Amino acid sequence: MTLVDIGANLTHASFQADVADVIARARAAGVARIIVTGTTLEDSRKALDLSGSSDFLFATAGIHPHHARECGPDTIPQLRALAKDAVAIGECGLDFNRNYSPHPDQEKWFVAQAELGLELGKPLFLHSRDAHPRFAQILKSLKIQDAVAHCFTGEREELKAYLDLGLYVGITGWICDERRGKHLLELVREIPRDRLLLETDAPYLTPRDLRPQPKARRNEPAFLPHILRAVARAVGRPPEEVAAETTRNANTLFRLHESGSSAAAQRPLAA
Ligand SMILES: [Zn+2]
Repeated sequence: MTLVDIGANLTHASFQADVADVIARARAAGVARIIVTGTTLEDSRKALDLSGSSDFLFATAGIHPHHARECGPDTIPQLRALAKDAVAIGECGLDFNRNYSPHPDQEKWFVAQAELGLELGKPLFLHSRDAHPRFAQILKSLKIQDAVAHCFTGEREELKAYLDLGLYVGITGWICDERRGKHLLELVREIPRDRLLLETDAPYLTPRDLRPQPKARRNEPAFLPHILRAVARAVGRPPEEVAAETTRNANTLFRLHESGSSAAAQRPLAA
Protein backbone atom coordinates (compact mmCIF):
# COMPACT_ATOMS: atom_id res chain seq x y z
CA MET A 1 0.00 0.00 0.00
CA THR A 2 1.37 3.41 -0.97
CA LEU A 3 0.30 7.01 -0.52
CA VAL A 4 1.05 10.34 -2.16
CA ASP A 5 1.16 13.49 -0.02
CA ILE A 6 0.07 16.04 -2.60
CA GLY A 7 0.84 19.06 -0.38
CA ALA A 8 3.75 19.42 2.02
CA ASN A 9 5.59 22.66 2.72
CA LEU A 10 8.98 21.00 3.21
CA THR A 11 10.82 24.28 2.54
CA HIS A 12 9.28 25.72 5.73
CA ALA A 13 11.89 26.86 8.27
CA SER A 14 10.68 24.28 10.79
CA PHE A 15 12.04 21.49 8.52
CA GLN A 16 15.40 23.08 7.85
CA ALA A 17 17.34 21.11 10.47
CA ASP A 18 15.96 17.62 9.82
CA VAL A 19 14.30 17.41 6.41
CA ALA A 20 16.22 14.21 5.58
CA ASP A 21 14.81 12.52 8.71
CA VAL A 22 11.33 13.79 7.87
CA ILE A 23 11.60 12.27 4.39
CA ALA A 24 12.92 8.98 5.79
CA ARG A 25 10.01 8.76 8.26
CA ALA A 26 7.55 9.45 5.44
CA ARG A 27 9.00 6.62 3.36
CA ALA A 28 8.93 4.26 6.34
CA ALA A 29 5.26 5.17 6.92
CA GLY A 30 4.28 4.16 3.37
CA VAL A 31 4.37 7.54 1.64
CA ALA A 32 5.67 6.83 -1.85
CA ARG A 33 5.71 10.39 -3.16
CA ILE A 34 5.54 13.94 -1.82
CA ILE A 35 4.61 17.04 -3.80
CA VAL A 36 6.46 19.95 -2.18
CA THR A 37 4.39 23.15 -2.28
CA GLY A 38 5.89 26.35 -3.69
CA THR A 39 4.37 29.59 -2.34
CA THR A 40 6.64 32.37 -3.70
CA LEU A 41 9.25 32.53 -6.47
CA GLU A 42 12.04 32.06 -3.93
CA ASP A 43 10.21 29.28 -2.15
CA SER A 44 9.35 27.55 -5.44
CA ARG A 45 13.05 27.61 -6.32
CA LYS A 46 13.84 25.98 -2.98
CA ALA A 47 11.11 23.38 -3.50
CA LEU A 48 12.49 22.53 -6.94
CA ASP A 49 16.05 22.34 -5.57
CA LEU A 50 14.89 20.02 -2.81
CA SER A 51 13.02 17.73 -5.18
CA GLY A 52 15.93 17.67 -7.65
CA SER A 53 15.73 14.69 -9.97
CA SER A 54 14.31 12.42 -7.27
CA ASP A 55 11.50 9.98 -8.05
CA PHE A 56 10.16 10.60 -4.53
CA LEU A 57 9.94 14.39 -4.24
CA PHE A 58 8.27 16.68 -6.77
CA ALA A 59 7.50 20.39 -6.55
CA THR A 60 4.94 22.98 -7.56
CA ALA A 61 5.85 26.53 -8.61
CA GLY A 62 3.53 29.40 -7.79
CA ILE A 63 2.62 32.43 -5.74
CA HIS A 64 0.26 32.01 -2.78
CA PRO A 65 -2.47 34.69 -2.65
CA HIS A 66 -0.93 36.00 0.59
CA HIS A 67 2.02 37.13 -1.55
CA ALA A 68 0.04 38.60 -4.46
CA ARG A 69 1.01 42.12 -3.42
CA GLU A 70 4.68 41.26 -4.02
CA CYS A 71 4.07 40.32 -7.67
CA GLY A 72 5.19 42.48 -10.59
CA PRO A 73 6.02 42.44 -14.30
CA ASP A 74 8.80 39.85 -13.78
CA THR A 75 6.67 37.39 -11.85
CA ILE A 76 5.08 35.41 -14.66
CA PRO A 77 8.24 35.21 -16.84
CA GLN A 78 10.18 33.91 -13.83
CA LEU A 79 7.43 31.48 -12.96
CA ARG A 80 7.32 30.28 -16.57
CA ALA A 81 11.05 29.49 -16.36
CA LEU A 82 10.64 27.59 -13.08
CA ALA A 83 7.53 25.76 -14.26
CA LYS A 84 9.35 23.51 -16.70
CA ASP A 85 10.61 21.45 -13.75
CA ALA A 86 7.43 21.72 -11.67
CA VAL A 87 4.52 19.25 -11.67
CA ALA A 88 1.92 22.01 -11.19
CA ILE A 89 1.41 25.77 -11.09
CA GLY A 90 0.56 26.97 -7.59
CA GLU A 91 -0.28 27.17 -4.97
CA CYS A 92 -2.35 29.98 -6.38
CA GLY A 93 -5.82 31.23 -5.68
CA LEU A 94 -7.69 33.55 -3.34
CA ASP A 95 -7.54 33.95 0.43
CA PHE A 96 -10.25 36.26 1.75
CA ASN A 97 -9.72 34.96 5.28
CA ARG A 98 -6.38 36.50 6.20
CA ASN A 99 -6.44 39.21 3.50
CA TYR A 100 -2.67 39.68 3.53
CA SER A 101 -2.96 41.03 -0.04
CA PRO A 102 -5.72 43.31 -1.43
CA HIS A 103 -8.45 41.37 -3.27
CA PRO A 104 -7.80 43.02 -6.69
CA ASP A 105 -4.11 41.97 -6.47
CA GLN A 106 -5.11 38.44 -5.47
CA GLU A 107 -7.50 38.12 -8.42
CA LYS A 108 -5.04 39.60 -10.93
CA TRP A 109 -2.21 37.22 -10.04
CA PHE A 110 -4.45 34.22 -9.63
CA VAL A 111 -5.80 34.73 -13.15
CA ALA A 112 -2.27 35.27 -14.50
CA GLN A 113 -1.09 31.98 -12.97
CA ALA A 114 -4.18 30.09 -14.11
CA GLU A 115 -3.53 31.32 -17.66
CA LEU A 116 0.11 30.24 -17.36
CA GLY A 117 -1.07 26.77 -16.37
CA LEU A 118 -3.33 26.65 -19.42
CA GLU A 119 -0.52 27.90 -21.67
CA LEU A 120 1.94 25.28 -20.39
CA GLY A 121 -0.56 22.44 -20.08
CA LYS A 122 0.22 22.09 -16.37
CA PRO A 123 -2.33 21.35 -13.66
CA LEU A 124 -3.09 24.01 -11.03
CA PHE A 125 -2.59 23.57 -7.29
CA LEU A 126 -5.39 25.78 -5.97
CA HIS A 127 -5.84 27.52 -2.66
CA SER A 128 -9.16 29.10 -1.67
CA ARG A 129 -10.20 30.30 1.75
CA ASP A 130 -13.47 32.15 2.37
CA ALA A 131 -13.45 33.15 -1.31
CA HIS A 132 -16.48 31.21 -2.51
CA PRO A 133 -18.28 31.90 -4.85
CA ARG A 134 -15.82 34.37 -6.47
CA PHE A 135 -13.12 31.72 -6.75
CA ALA A 136 -15.36 29.24 -8.57
CA GLN A 137 -16.61 32.01 -10.90
CA ILE A 138 -13.05 32.75 -12.02
CA LEU A 139 -12.28 29.05 -12.54
CA LYS A 140 -15.44 28.68 -14.57
CA SER A 141 -14.77 31.74 -16.73
CA LEU A 142 -11.28 30.40 -17.54
CA LYS A 143 -12.64 26.86 -18.08
CA ILE A 144 -10.19 25.42 -15.53
CA GLN A 145 -10.67 21.71 -14.90
CA ASP A 146 -7.12 20.38 -14.72
CA ALA A 147 -6.59 21.27 -11.06
CA VAL A 148 -6.88 20.32 -7.42
CA ALA A 149 -8.71 22.39 -4.82
CA HIS A 150 -6.09 21.80 -2.13
CA CYS A 151 -7.00 21.63 1.56
CA PHE A 152 -10.74 21.67 1.02
CA THR A 153 -12.47 22.88 4.19
CA GLY A 154 -15.61 24.45 2.71
CA GLU A 155 -19.30 23.63 2.64
CA ARG A 156 -21.43 21.47 0.32
CA GLU A 157 -22.20 24.21 -2.19
CA GLU A 158 -18.52 25.01 -2.66
CA LEU A 159 -17.65 21.32 -3.06
CA LYS A 160 -20.39 20.92 -5.63
CA ALA A 161 -19.03 23.87 -7.62
CA TYR A 162 -15.57 22.24 -7.77
CA LEU A 163 -16.91 18.82 -8.70
CA ASP A 164 -19.10 20.36 -11.42
CA LEU A 165 -15.93 21.87 -12.88
CA GLY A 166 -14.25 18.45 -12.76
CA LEU A 167 -11.62 19.40 -10.17
CA TYR A 168 -9.79 17.06 -7.82
CA VAL A 169 -10.30 17.75 -4.11
CA GLY A 170 -7.51 17.54 -1.52
CA ILE A 171 -8.39 16.48 2.04
CA THR A 172 -6.05 17.26 4.96
CA GLY A 173 -6.03 16.50 8.68
CA TRP A 174 -8.71 19.20 9.00
CA ILE A 175 -11.08 16.22 8.77
CA CYS A 176 -9.64 14.98 12.09
CA ASP A 177 -10.66 18.19 13.88
CA GLU A 178 -13.71 17.46 16.02
CA ARG A 179 -14.51 21.20 16.28
CA ARG A 180 -14.23 22.67 12.79
CA GLY A 181 -13.79 19.61 10.53
CA LYS A 182 -16.88 17.59 11.45
CA HIS A 183 -18.81 18.58 8.31
CA LEU A 184 -16.04 17.07 6.17
CA LEU A 185 -16.79 13.57 7.51
CA GLU A 186 -20.08 13.77 5.60
CA LEU A 187 -18.92 15.79 2.59
CA VAL A 188 -15.98 13.52 1.80
CA ARG A 189 -18.50 10.81 0.89
CA GLU A 190 -19.70 13.00 -1.95
CA ILE A 191 -16.29 13.22 -3.61
CA PRO A 192 -16.13 10.68 -6.46
CA ARG A 193 -13.45 8.01 -6.00
CA ASP A 194 -11.55 9.30 -8.99
CA ARG A 195 -11.39 12.86 -7.65
CA LEU A 196 -10.14 12.41 -4.08
CA LEU A 197 -6.58 13.31 -3.01
CA LEU A 198 -4.83 13.25 0.38
CA GLU A 199 -2.37 15.74 1.82
CA THR A 200 -0.85 16.81 5.12
CA ASP A 201 -0.19 20.53 4.36
CA ALA A 202 2.76 20.01 6.74
CA PRO A 203 3.97 21.67 8.91
CA TYR A 204 0.45 23.10 9.31
CA LEU A 205 -2.79 21.35 10.26
CA THR A 206 -1.46 18.61 12.53
CA PRO A 207 -4.38 16.19 13.03
CA ARG A 208 -5.89 17.18 16.38
CA ASP A 209 -6.61 13.58 17.35
CA LEU A 210 -3.06 12.34 16.72
CA ARG A 211 -1.60 10.73 19.87
CA PRO A 212 0.97 11.52 21.02
CA GLN A 213 0.99 15.02 19.56
CA PRO A 214 4.34 15.71 17.84
CA LYS A 215 6.96 18.05 19.26
CA ALA A 216 6.01 21.70 18.76
CA ARG A 217 2.84 20.33 17.08
CA ARG A 218 4.68 20.17 13.76
CA ASN A 219 2.83 18.17 11.12
CA GLU A 220 4.85 16.01 8.70
CA PRO A 221 4.18 13.66 5.76
CA ALA A 222 4.66 10.56 7.95
CA PHE A 223 1.25 11.37 9.46
CA LEU A 224 -0.54 10.93 6.13
CA PRO A 225 -1.67 7.35 7.01
CA HIS A 226 -3.53 8.85 9.99
CA ILE A 227 -5.47 11.11 7.62
CA LEU A 228 -6.03 8.18 5.25
CA ARG A 229 -7.62 6.17 8.05
CA ALA A 230 -9.91 9.07 9.05
CA VAL A 231 -11.04 9.44 5.43
CA ALA A 232 -11.49 5.67 5.01
CA ARG A 233 -13.68 5.51 8.13
CA ALA A 234 -15.73 8.44 6.88
CA VAL A 235 -16.38 6.87 3.47
CA GLY A 236 -16.82 3.40 4.98
CA ARG A 237 -14.24 1.66 2.82
CA PRO A 238 -10.93 -0.14 3.52
CA PRO A 239 -7.88 2.17 3.87
CA GLU A 240 -6.02 0.03 1.29
CA GLU A 241 -8.67 0.80 -1.29
CA VAL A 242 -8.67 4.56 -0.57
CA ALA A 243 -4.86 4.56 -0.61
CA ALA A 244 -4.76 2.91 -4.03
CA GLU A 245 -7.38 5.24 -5.49
CA THR A 246 -5.86 8.45 -4.16
CA THR A 247 -2.39 7.38 -5.30
CA ARG A 248 -3.70 6.67 -8.78
CA ASN A 249 -5.46 10.05 -8.82
CA ALA A 250 -2.29 11.90 -7.73
CA ASN A 251 -0.23 10.16 -10.41
CA THR A 252 -2.85 11.04 -13.03
CA LEU A 253 -3.20 14.70 -12.04
CA PHE A 254 0.55 15.36 -11.76
CA ARG A 255 1.48 13.09 -14.73
CA LEU A 256 3.74 10.86 -12.63
CA HIS A 257 4.69 7.37 -13.70
CA GLU A 258 3.32 4.52 -11.67
CA SER A 259 6.05 3.56 -9.20
CA GLY A 260 5.62 -0.17 -8.79
CA SER A 261 9.31 -0.82 -8.37
CA SER A 262 10.40 1.70 -5.73
CA ALA A 263 11.49 0.37 -2.34
CA ALA A 264 8.94 2.52 -0.54
CA ALA A 265 6.16 0.91 -2.53
CA GLN A 266 6.92 -2.47 -0.99
CA ARG A 267 6.63 -1.32 2.63
CA PRO A 268 3.40 -1.73 4.57
CA LEU A 269 1.70 1.28 6.15
CA ALA A 270 2.80 2.05 9.71
CA ALA A 271 0.20 1.20 12.32
ZN1 LIG B 1 -3.07 26.52 0.88
